[in-house]
Amino acid sequence: MTDFSVEANRFQTPDASTLQAGRVVIAVAGGEIIAVAPADTAAAAELRTQSPDHIDLGPDTVLIPGLIDLHIHAPQWQQLGTALDLPVQDWLQTYTFPLEARFTDTAMAEVVYRDLVATLLAHGTTTAVYFASVHEPATVVLAETCAAAGQRAFVGRVAMDHPEATPDWYRDADAATGVLASARSIDAVRAIDAGRGLVEPIITPRFLPACTDQLLSGLGELAETTGTLVQTHCSESDWHHAHALERFGTTDTSALDRFGLLRNRTVLAHGNHITDADIALIADRGAVIGHCPVSNAYFANAVLPVPELLAAGARVGLGTDIGAGVRPGVLQQCHEAVTMSRLRRDGVHAGLSSTERGAPTAAIDTTTAFWLATAGGAEALDLALGVLEPGYRFDAVAIDLDHRHGVIRRHTDLDDDERLFEKVVRLAQTSDIERVWVDGRTVHHR
Ligand SMILES: [Zn+2]
Repeated sequence: MTDFSVEANRFQTPDASTLQAGRVVIAVAGGEIIAVAPADTAAAAELRTQSPDHIDLGPDTVLIPGLIDLHIHAPQWQQLGTALDLPVQDWLQTYTFPLEARFTDTAMAEVVYRDLVATLLAHGTTTAVYFASVHEPATVVLAETCAAAGQRAFVGRVAMDHPEATPDWYRDADAATGVLASARSIDAVRAIDAGRGLVEPIITPRFLPACTDQLLSGLGELAETTGTLVQTHCSESDWHHAHALERFGTTDTSALDRFGLLRNRTVLAHGNHITDADIALIADRGAVIGHCPVSNAYFANAVLPVPELLAAGARVGLGTDIGAGVRPGVLQQCHEAVTMSRLRRDGVHAGLSSTERGAPTAAIDTTTAFWLATAGGAEALDLALGVLEPGYRFDAVAIDLDHRHGVIRRHTDLDDDERLFEKVVRLAQTSDIERVWVDGRTVHHR
């Protein structure tokens, strides 16, 4: 039995090089898409009449799959747009650890997280993968906030205990304490949304420099025994990459594997300095690179080789990396992923000859970037999301092509579907986002 149907111009990218566009009727029941038909067919007419609630979005709106953000630091929300002047190791000590340490205050966490989650939904972020802070209560607050707002989310208590890379006022007391806290946090997050299953826990060692060997192996065992997803940072910067080589005599990726943390669907933020062998290992394990292009421009010292990763069969999605990533919306990251790939293709040092300067096959286009933000990210996490097709959950974003405060302009004599798609990906702002659904439920309405 249909709950409702939506009629709209649908844009989606079922694979990294295919844009599908066209007017369809989508029938939804229990949060799942049960039928889709082209709008001018008899099947569509039947879906319209069968549905107790038919929503016609009209000719001036497009419907896209919900956007998936693979990397967000919730307690860095108040820092967005600032603190971008230091390398990552100094940025953590100077700005970020003091800010995150404030989340011992759960009342403050409630206010900040409510604003964060509502803002991300207004940007069309229907699935979010969050780092919380080391605090168990504030981690629960974040998970409860996502559940209440109806956002699909993975929420992880950050584990970190290394006395050299973390301050004594913001870390787990020792490895055993950290593993126990993470284990309790898994249970607490699982208990919040057991009925709907939108919010899940994720084991979150911050990154190798912040964790002792004992903590890393304890969390690897916890992942194995509980089957919980893992996220961390990987080979983000020259400093981070060198740390792994010096401490473990191998790369970040391979060290994570030794600790049992490089698992199916492990989300590795960044990965800019991974080697060819790392790419093969990531693909083999089914781990996922969360590509955060804007953050990378400030902190990574390199551009991620996205085409090489995809060619090797590695899973990749996009992340904002709030608060380092400056832009809170995933569409903005799509645009920047294309931009950074073009800089990598051409190179940036005019003193070198054009043949030495760049990486000729490095560029991606808006279709690939949008796929990373939708179907690619969903496939990476094994979620039935990312396209608006039968059997998938109805997570979707309606975008107004005609909003007076927006900058999308249509020129009917010029604009075909490809051009409109590019305009949506590059130009859509929150003012253009009219309505957002997660699991068939409206979670934002302009
Ligand atoms: Zn991060």
